[in-house]
Amino acid sequence: MTEIVLASNNRKKIAELGTLLASSASKGISVLSLRDIGFTDEIVEDGASFEENSLIKAATPARLGYIGIADDSGLCVDALDGAPGIYSARYAGEDANDESNRRKLLDALRDIPAEERTARFVCTASLVLPENTPCAVPEKWRIPADLAAKRGLDPARAMVVRGECEGRILFEERGDGGFGYDPLFYYPEFGATFAEIPGERKNLVSHRGRAMREFTARLAAILKE
Ligand code: IMP
Repeated sequence: MTEIVLASNNRKKIAELGTLLASSASKGISVLSLRDIGFTDEIVEDGASFEENSLIKAATPARLGYIGIADDSGLCVDALDGAPGIYSARYAGEDANDESNRRKLLDALRDIPAEERTARFVCTASLVLPENTPCAVPEKWRIPADLAAKRGLDPARAMVVRGECEGRILFEERGDGGFGYDPLFYYPEFGATFAEIPGERKNLVSHRGRAMREFTARLAAILKE
């Protein structure tokens, strides 16, 4: 059994990844949390991009000898020059929650007409292999050398996959499913917000679905080597 550590203590994320991995070719993988390996410190996510932040998290278990994986995600709004971006979770401040974040977003876009309210959800998923593993990341999937150098990582042991999903921000909330910015994110192909459709349908097209499908396929290939 290969153990990989998802650098998160979010049980929903761990269960979701476990399911995704089980349905990909990567049988025989068990997903552990940071708590499972006795890591309880807070990870400082001070990267300048989604890629960098997910690498910072995935590198934490890798430094302890485990295969580390992590994701990072958020919403980028064109009329706000990409904000809230990597600050999506705490857009409305340190005590922000989903509701206050959505309120702040609606406020920031108050004077922006419909056609200029384009936005995308972004998700990056990272893998960092520990020094003692026999496998490596194939050259075509390695992270850029400058990013590796910035984070003190060996590019042959690090990979990031990005998934995006294009939509636009409505003037008011619609739907009560989903989480975060879902009730404001209108997905034109479905004619609905992400809060108005079932989770499985969202997964088919979402930033996270796209990133995780590609990521799990690559991970299975890397671990099989
Ligand atoms: P994290 O990747 O869990 O740190 O997510 C960052 C923040 O981005 C969340 O708190 C949400 O506000 C927002 N976000 C990320 N993915 C989604 C999504 O699929 N729907 C709605 N909001 C999202």
